[in-house]
Amino acid sequence: MEFKPRNCWQVYKSKKHRTAMDRVAHEYVRFLSECKTERETINWVRSQVLARGFAEEFHMDRVFRVHKDKSIFLAWKGNRPMAQGVRLLGAHVDTPRLDFKQRPVYEECQISLAKTHYYGGIRKHQWLARPLALHGTVVKTDGSRVNVSIGEDDNDPVFTVADLLPHLASKQIEKRLSQAFEAEKLNVILGHVPLSGKPDEERNGNEKKAVKNGVLRLLNRKFGIIEEDLYSAELQAVPAGPARFVGLDQGLIGGFGHDDRACVFTGLNAFLDAEPSVHSRVAVFWDKEEIGSEGSCGAKSLFLEYCLEELLDAWEPETRLRTMFANTRALSADVHAAMDPDYQDVHEKLNASLLGHGPVFCKFTGHRGKVGANDAHAEYIGWLRRILNSEKIPWQMAETGKVDMGGGGTVAKFLAVYGMDIIDFGPGVLGMHSPFEIVSKADIYATYLAYSRFFSAV
Ligand code: MN
Ligand code: MN
Repeated sequence: MEFKPRNCWQVYKSKKHRTAMDRVAHEYVRFLSECKTERETINWVRSQVLARGFAEEFHMDRVFRVHKDKSIFLAWKGNRPMAQGVRLLGAHVDTPRLDFKQRPVYEECQISLAKTHYYGGIRKHQWLARPLALHGTVVKTDGSRVNVSIGEDDNDPVFTVADLLPHLASKQIEKRLSQAFEAEKLNVILGHVPLSGKPDEERNGNEKKAVKNGVLRLLNRKFGIIEEDLYSAELQAVPAGPARFVGLDQGLIGGFGHDDRACVFTGLNAFLDAEPSVHSRVAVFWDKEEIGSEGSCGAKSLFLEYCLEELLDAWEPETRLRTMFANTRALSADVHAAMDPDYQDVHEKLNASLLGHGPVFCKFTGHRGKVGANDAHAEYIGWLRRILNSEKIPWQMAETGKVDMGGGGTVAKFLAVYGMDIIDFGPGVLGMHSPFEIVSKADIYATYLAYSRFFSAV
């Protein structure tokens, strides 16, 4: 009678499952290590679907479309008409980090630094005193693009934001955490060697330039860019180095951007691997979720709607978009805050998720009385329980912490407006939005199986 979440390590203890779990985990670690920006993630998705025969022409059965290199739409025709709805999975490719400002480079105290403006919900102190890599794109006035990636190769230098020494932090430690770390002090160290070998030789009024000019010279030599080119650049400081297995038993995976690349990876693989489907399947990966799903590549944009409209024109012109939407079943594939052993007090245990117990349903997000939430319908959850239970795939249901403790949002509510059924569903994460987030290897595997089941379910 009583419900108990099931432990994935128990459920998937056979040699067959453990071998498959290891294979998925190693592929995932490689993916997470290679894809640190939205553009890199979209490129990876594009290369995967191209290798599987997907085409950009919508009259084909397996199609994709990329928008601005920051979002991608995938569709695979099923046997039933689109009028009966599609199985749709949406996830996001952006991750909280430090973005370079448009005019970043300056010099102070014989050091050249870059000004940043943080992106998304970071805890600022987590970004101090750690090796950072620089990823991004610079566009020149002739339209050519330069892709930047420094700090990932063993021979590369890295960058960092220096922290204040404890000896002189007596004032800072008395401050509230929200005020102790200022955004304008999140400046990334870029260089130290003056261009001419003589510090401060070149002066323009009181502005020091020799070290800054040394950095600009290196950027010019390496990438052929000048300072003005940085105005049309998108450069991100992200944690340097690969994702890693964590723990003596290697049961956990630590890395940058499990939120939400864990769901991009498992969602895409499920999309590509699931059994031939009855319903057509759609996957869409958006940018900008972490800042409210805004812009032309976020979930609030019309990109998905336009793609589906065009797809109906090609596949099933007699069907109206609204009919297809009303019959669609969707997953907002996004990670959930797993119970933190050190901060169990922010969770309410009956309605919290545990690492290693499978992907987590979140019926509603929002805050303070469910404000701003998509609230998934009971009928839909009943159907999802049935399809997962029929294949003994572990799952959990949880809220994001205790009532009135905080809250959050996902893309779910932006899809719900079309009338489709949708719910948040993804693996638990420890240390979400930190530079080194933790997931369970078993949850990644179970999530992949759960998404696969969703795509093929009638
Ligand atoms: Mn997310
Ligand atoms: Mn997030």
